[in-house]
Amino acid sequence: MLEIKDLHASVAGQDILKGLNLSVKAGEVHAIMGPNGSGKSTLTNVLSGRDGYQITGGQALLDGHDVSELDPEQRAHAGMFLAFQYPVEIPGVSNLEFLKASLEATRKAQGKEPWDAVTLLKKARETCKQVDLDPQFLKRGVNEGFSGGEKKRNEIMQMLLLEPRLALLDETDSGLDIDALQVVARGVNSLRSPDRAIVLVTHYQRLLDYIVPDHVHVLAGGRILKSGGKELALELEQKGYGWLTDQEDAPA
Ligand code: ADP
Ligand code: MG
Repeated sequence: MLEIKDLHASVAGQDILKGLNLSVKAGEVHAIMGPNGSGKSTLTNVLSGRDGYQITGGQALLDGHDVSELDPEQRAHAGMFLAFQYPVEIPGVSNLEFLKASLEATRKAQGKEPWDAVTLLKKARETCKQVDLDPQFLKRGVNEGFSGGEKKRNEIMQMLLLEPRLALLDETDSGLDIDALQVVARGVNSLRSPDRAIVLVTHYQRLLDYIVPDHVHVLAGGRILKSGGKELALELEQKGYGWLTDQEDAPA
């Protein structure tokens, strides 16, 4: 589904990704861990086509299509969903209006029937309950005045409704209390399916107690330094990242 080959990318004229390889198949959950500033958010931003993030070498293929040739709308339509590390506020646009617009565009592009207003409201309310979010949040401006936990619940709610094929979640655990963490994990786990892939960027092992990944990768210095199964996350929790990055710095 996602095939990244020798990807190089820069932000603000600075090379951040330096030959990153990653292969994600349908049905898999991948966790990407790594020290601060290693390029994890850059990777998700590059994949989602965020302004200012340039691919300078290699390629990232989504279902065989070069993502650099897709605009953000086409990526969304191809079934890519990105939950940001820092979700944006959109004052004046209600959450429900935002959802309606996203769902209409996405479902149309995926060849699915649009939902009428009654169905949309019903599904949105149900999904709010699923993530322990008061349905009143549907009326409020997108993320306006939401706490960190509410923003995340809201994002997971959007994700569940949009039914993406490839979900990219960046530091979904940052600043969440244990209840919110479990809500996020439940939401992500309920999305797991053979035709869907999930890439989870996380700094801490604790989220992976609830969302057990099939593959774990360590990103440092703009490259994947090590890959393994779920036990790699436990090893990192005990040993930190130093033993990997030291190896990298050592003369060959
Ligand atoms: P991580 O998510 O792994 O902590 P990031 O991908 O956010 O790391 O950042 C990697 C490097 O890229 C950092 O040195 C950061 O300062 C730099 N960087 C990321 N985004 C920008 C930006 N918009 N402008 C300038 N530098 C950036
Ligand atoms: Mg980050």
